[in-house]
Amino acid sequence: VAAPLIAVSAAIERRPTAFGEIDCTLVAAAYSNAIYAAGAQPVVMPVTDNPPGDLLARMDGLVLTGGADIDPALYGEEPDETVYGVRRDRDIFESALFVEAITLGLPVLAICRGMQLVNIIRGGTLFQQLISDLDHWQLGAPDEPCHAVEIADDSMLAETFGSVALVNSYHHQALNVLGEQLRVVATCGGVIEAVEGADCDLLGVQWHPEHMASTDDAQRAIFNAFVRRVESNRRGTVYAEQNS
Ligand code: MN
Repeated sequence: VAAPLIAVSAAIERRPTAFGEIDCTLVAAAYSNAIYAAGAQPVVMPVTDNPPGDLLARMDGLVLTGGADIDPALYGEEPDETVYGVRRDRDIFESALFVEAITLGLPVLAICRGMQLVNIIRGGTLFQQLISDLDHWQLGAPDEPCHAVEIADDSMLAETFGSVALVNSYHHQALNVLGEQLRVVATCGGVIEAVEGADCDLLGVQWHPEHMASTDDAQRAIFNAFVRRVESNRRGTVYAEQNS
């Protein structure tokens, strides 16, 4: 059986090149390496203004990656002075990816910005600048934990970590109003650190497991568990097609 195909969303950023400063597609290799290590094939999905409607037709799962801030207009707010790196074309393209993935019944792993985007698509909002006793933008290396999170019972995350996880932290924003059909499954103080879908196979985490996956068994297990869900979902789909 061929390895499952995992669509991986990408940033689009202006970068200096031999052609001048032009839009480039960017994905941290940590994402693709973590997906390869879990036995799946990452497929990068470059941002385009006019995406076809069947981008995920051959894909088995979706990873929404981290990155710069989402346009606050998408949750009805004016940007404050801390908002950076907004690319509305990325926001719109990734929103289309998420909607299509849910329509197709594909498992989704949404990381950092990815979880924030899902929350907005579901009608939620963000704190544009998180005010917290703890600094959620760590200065240490990305494979080192920054803070603990408390994990809810009866969650996918609890199957991976138990009741507590040590996570890295690179976010200046956080979920505010929770979107529909989302369940908070991890918190740090009052800060939402993970959500799961009540109506779909969705895990969203505010931290960056891809940067801990090569050195931390539990963080690697997020990707392993995700790819196992993708495989069993794909088998179910094949079975349903053969018997329809
Ligand atoms: Mn954090």
